[in-house]
Amino acid sequence: MYDDIVLKLQKEHRLSAAEYKELLVNPVYDSALQEAARRQALEIFGNEIYIRGLIEFTNYCKNNCYYCGIRAGNKNVERYRLTKDDILLCCEHGYELGFRTFVLQGGEDKLFTEEILCDIVSAIRKEFPDCAITLSFGELPRSMYQSLFDSGANRYLLRHETANPIHYSKLHPENLSHENRIKCLYDLKEIGYQVGCGLMVGSPYQTVDNLVEDLMFIGDFKPHMVGIGPFIPHKDTPFAHYSAGSVQMTLKLLSIIRLMEPRVLLPSTTALASLMPDGCEQGILAGANVVMPNLSPDIAKSKYILYNNKSSVGAQDANALLVLRQRLNKIGYTISNSRGDYN
Ligand code: SAM
Repeated sequence: MYDDIVLKLQKEHRLSAAEYKELLVNPVYDSALQEAARRQALEIFGNEIYIRGLIEFTNYCKNNCYYCGIRAGNKNVERYRLTKDDILLCCEHGYELGFRTFVLQGGEDKLFTEEILCDIVSAIRKEFPDCAITLSFGELPRSMYQSLFDSGANRYLLRHETANPIHYSKLHPENLSHENRIKCLYDLKEIGYQVGCGLMVGSPYQTVDNLVEDLMFIGDFKPHMVGIGPFIPHKDTPFAHYSAGSVQMTLKLLSIIRLMEPRVLLPSTTALASLMPDGCEQGILAGANVVMPNLSPDIAKSKYILYNNKSSVGAQDANALLVLRQRLNKIGYTISNSRGDYN
């Protein structure tokens, strides 16, 4: 009986809301789920893990999300922004190390106008024609998503954060709407990006039913990537006193999502690695197939603090990448040299 739901998910890739809930609340499924998800990932990607070089290019942000350490209202953050040359240097360095995807992530910094950002994306596209460019720069007008796509960006990460509008309003101030977040995701998909949605596991006020709604949303939206990591509190935010999300629940969601969308690009996230020394490996063993080492310069790494005790899967030098390679080898995986597109 226990394996029946897992078997159904494996074969049909979708469950009813009641069945998702049963998987989420009942630990008896955990090992069968994990085993099935790992096998599914191995079948599609072999034992190869895609790496993405993360460049955190600004920690200025106009938004005030209650959970986020770089929210506008946090006056204790030392703000920084990288220049176009800084960003290109990170890419050059990353390219030499073997990265073929660069992820530019930032707070919603108004100084990175459409013109400036398109210029940066075009420069990366020109210098690294064989690389994928992923952006994670929040909610923008559709026309700007289009210009960035036309300048050479291929992928966009925009976590939906929660599929429930009431829950969304408990995590964000009034000027941010769930409706717009979801609209942005559909705009991105229509334009032709490979799109990533996602959520924080254990964010304040989240219920199991909310997680079920998240799974149903993922089932409808059919993202190319899903970013799933535990919520971790930051001391200078309104959510400072909430507990961190559960590692077990995060791993379980990774497994369910791998079985729902077998080809999905699923990172083992920094937040997971921040809560558990072998979180990166655990994520992969639960069905993840992507790791995003940080290529940002040290000045950025110490200031792009979304939550306390943030770990860094380093790629600052060849040695750090070698350490990652060894850690993956230990659990039977290797780093892929390819761009790792969704297909
Ligand atoms: N501004 C862009 C956006 O909104 O998508 C990108 C940057 S934002 C900091 C990237 C992601 O960090 C968010 O989507 C959120 O899920 C995650 N994040 C922020 N604060 C966090 C926290 N305290 N714990 C875990 N993840 C967090």
